[in-house]
Amino acid sequence: MVARYVGRFAPSPTGPLHAGSLVAALASWLDARAHGGQWLVRIEDVDTPRCAPGMDRIILQQLAACGLHPDAPPVWQSQRTGLYQQALDQLVARGLAYPCACSRKDIEAALNRLGQARTRHGELVYPGTCRTGLHGNLGRAWRLRTDMFKKNRPLAPVEYDKFATNVVANNLIHWADRRLGAQQQDVQAQVGDFVLKRFDGCFAYQLAVVVDDAAQGVTDVVRGEDLADNTARQILLQQALGLPTPRYLHTPLVLGANGEKLSKQNGAQPLDASDPLAALNRAAGVLGLPARPGSAAEAFVAWVADWRRRYEPAQ
Ligand code: GLU
Repeated sequence: MVARYVGRFAPSPTGPLHAGSLVAALASWLDARAHGGQWLVRIEDVDTPRCAPGMDRIILQQLAACGLHPDAPPVWQSQRTGLYQQALDQLVARGLAYPCACSRKDIEAALNRLGQARTRHGELVYPGTCRTGLHGNLGRAWRLRTDMFKKNRPLAPVEYDKFATNVVANNLIHWADRRLGAQQQDVQAQVGDFVLKRFDGCFAYQLAVVVDDAAQGVTDVVRGEDLADNTARQILLQQALGLPTPRYLHTPLVLGANGEKLSKQNGAQPLDASDPLAALNRAAGVLGLPARPGSAAEAFVAWVADWRRRYEPAQ
């Protein structure tokens, strides 16, 4: 047991839960139970154009049908934009965030001029054009200065423990994932100054997730492996905002027919709520836990013990 444990499941209401999202939900729930901790649900509806009306309710119903009940009322990111603006204001006041006038075309052109065409998961690596000012153009978005650790020194106290080792050295963020092991990323070189608030006024996932994880006292982030690549950016932001770093565990993904992460686009079917135990058994299988026939209540008890053996072998 850790002294205090707060975990969360943070679905974006862009579609109903499917086999892949249930894996992350079940894993975060089991980890919270295995630590005698609290499990929260946060509806990440900050990217309003991508959210489907009523999908939040459907997701909460699907979780309830599977017996995954949050320990506190869920929160909606769309109701917390004041917190994100405060965080952005703090970064701007400290010279760590700046307005950017660049369109995607401008960024492509700047990269071409530099003889670079760097992308990361389809996103262009921002070459820092507006760091030196808007040059008379209109600011459209806000970006984080990822060169803030030039002096190889964290700005904020870092929580060091067995898992959440995150250090900044030679501009690299190092961190240890409870499943994937040691990870590192040079955010400036590999991602560039990333967006905190978008041209359409929506706060970016990176900022909202960091602010909320801290505001909700989250000690452990358990989520799908497709999100692992965001972790270094989030650690950098935590340090820029003087916030603690949680422990991270990224779970295996369910792959669609095209070999990519299961999603609405590659044929993910909504969870079949008529047989929650079958769906839970499939999710448990992805997590490397044995199938448990019987009732969901019996399965949960067994899986909490299985989970401890698999993911917390020292206990
Ligand atoms: N809202 C994100 C998603 O559904 C998950 C965010 C997180 O767990 O950090 O992909």
